[in-house]
Amino acid sequence: MIGIQTAPFLVEMIRITTNMYEHGWDERNGGNISMLLDEREVSAYLDLTKVLRSVPTGFRAPELNGRYFLVTGTGDYFKNVQYAPDVNLGIVRLTDEGEKAELLWGFSDGGSFTSEFPAHMMSHQARLRVDPENRIVMHCHPANLLAMTYVHTLDEREFTRTLWQMGTECVVVFPDGVSVLPWMLCGTNEIGVATAEKMSLSRLVVWAQHGVYGAGKTMDEAFGLIETAEKAAEIYLKIAHLPLVNTIADFQMHLLEKRFGVKAREGYLSD
Ligand SMILES: [Zn+2]
Repeated sequence: MIGIQTAPFLVEMIRITTNMYEHGWDERNGGNISMLLDEREVSAYLDLTKVLRSVPTGFRAPELNGRYFLVTGTGDYFKNVQYAPDVNLGIVRLTDEGEKAELLWGFSDGGSFTSEFPAHMMSHQARLRVDPENRIVMHCHPANLLAMTYVHTLDEREFTRTLWQMGTECVVVFPDGVSVLPWMLCGTNEIGVATAEKMSLSRLVVWAQHGVYGAGKTMDEAFGLIETAEKAAEIYLKIAHLPLVNTIADFQMHLLEKRFGVKAREGYLSD
């Protein structure tokens, strides 16, 4: 069996957590990522009959029964992942209709998966229903998006429209828009259910006064979504206090839709 340290999925996870830390999106133990893995992918590196520990998840996710995830650990710092991946990451298999997670590798200091495991797993379940190729759910605390939730209405249509107007490529990158949850207690099944509901409509979900969730087929897609929305929020904060002279009008958004073959979320643009 090949050493897991060379597994492309592990290398990618180490690179992205390091990169996100360097972006300033994951202070202290902020942020968490889960990556859906194929059984074949995992079996090249691990003996799947060797379960290290079995942990109750506290929720049901029947559609994820038997699925494998590489996931960041609770209380672990993104900045440390590259130096000790086997401590800060783990590979789990969901069993018992998702009520149990079997640890196959990682969390070698006795740790466990992220406290936001419910939001991650429920989001995976919701995304897979609308996009069977979805693999990544990613959460972090980018400063500008977070700041925006203090000064902008949390109405999803308005929030999305503002972000779309902050850069020509925004509507092309996230035509499905940005969903927004009001402040809720994190780490609970309730916020998991609420996030997953939003995830069935859009790949970006902002948690007011907390951070953002992104989902995608690849790490690049999920990261790129957050990166683009965060840049748009930064531009908004640079101009929000100034008189607005120009913007991107809805008819121009329609030109972008046509040029790039995307469809903006229903009802978010005027005709
Ligand atoms: Zn967070």
